[in-house]
Amino acid sequence: MTTATGTRHLGLDLGATNLKWAIVEHAAPAWRVVAHGQAVTRTADDPAAVPATVVAQLADVAAAAIAGHGPVASVGIGIAGVCDPATGTTRFLPNIPGPWAGHPVAGTVARAVGVPAFLINDARAFGLAELRLGAGRGASSMIGLTLGTGVGGVVAIGGRVHFGHDGTAGELGHQTIDPDGPWCTCGNRGCVEAYARADQIAAACGTATAEEAIGAAQAGDPRARAGLADVGRYLGIGIANAITVLTPDRVVVGGGVAAAGELLLGPIRAEVARRVTMTSLEAVTFVAAELGTIAGAIGAAVHGAERSADEHSADGRSADGREART
Ligand SMILES: [Zn+2]
Repeated sequence: MTTATGTRHLGLDLGATNLKWAIVEHAAPAWRVVAHGQAVTRTADDPAAVPATVVAQLADVAAAAIAGHGPVASVGIGIAGVCDPATGTTRFLPNIPGPWAGHPVAGTVARAVGVPAFLINDARAFGLAELRLGAGRGASSMIGLTLGTGVGGVVAIGGRVHFGHDGTAGELGHQTIDPDGPWCTCGNRGCVEAYARADQIAAACGTATAEEAIGAAQAGDPRARAGLADVGRYLGIGIANAITVLTPDRVVVGGGVAAAGELLLGPIRAEVARRVTMTSLEAVTFVAAELGTIAGAIGAAVHGAERSADEHSADGRSADGREART
C-alpha cells in the first residue's frame, strides 16, 4: 500500500518452469525493486487440472510475498501467451498444458489477496520493466525483443507500452519476413520467430541447443558463427521494419539468446544499416536489456501499478491524458 516513500506493487511472472515474483515501489518518478523470488511452477498429472492448480499457486505465491514483505496496492500477472486484459482471462498458453481459453486468472488472484489484479503478456512485461527501470529508461519510443524459446516483442510509444485494442500489439517476432518461409508456431509462415527462436538457432549452428550454439560461436566455430550471423540477419530485417515504421530512439534486445552479444548484435546492426533508408540511425541506440530473468515479474508489477492508476483517474483517462486501455 502507500508507504512513507511510495506505493508498492506485486508482479508475478508465470513461466512453464518457474513462477517468479517481484515487489516494486513507486515514488514518482522513481521505481525500485524491493524484493523478488521464485518457485517451481506447479502442474498436475491431468492436463485439465493444470489451470486451476497453476492459478492456485499464483494466489499462494502472491499471499506469501505479501505476508513476507508487507501489503501491496495491486498485482500484475505476466503470462507467456495470449490474454484478454479487459476480462483478466487467458486465451492461449502454448507452453503450459490445459484448457486456458477463458480461464479467470486475474479475478481469482485478486479475490485471494484482496487487491486489484491485471494480466499482461510476458514480453510486454519485459519491455515495460526495461522502459521504467532498465535499458529503456528515458526513451520516448522503444522497441524490444526478448530472444529465447520464442521471439517476444514490445513497442513503446510516447513513454508507454502500446497494447493495441486487445493487448497483443508489439509482436515483432511474428512479422512475416519471407512469404514462403518455414511454418511458425503461430500458424503463419516465414515469421521472424520461425528463423530466430532457440531451436532454429541450434539448427542453424549445427548444435543441440541455442546455448551450445552460442558457446561454439564464442569458441570460434565457423559454422556456429555463420549460423548466428544468418539468424542476426533475419532479426535485423524485422528490426529494420519496425524502425522504419516507428523511428524509435531505443532498441532493447534481451532474453537468454542475447548472451551471444556482438556475435548476434553485429549482424543485426549491419542488416538494419542496409535496410533502413528513410530515417537516420544516428539517434537510434541499440542496447542490451539490463534486468535479466526477473524483468517479467518487475514489468508485471509496473503494469498493475499503471493500470490501477489509469482506473483511478476520474474520467477513465490516465493522468497524462492518454487513453487508459489495457
Ligand atoms: Zn509467427
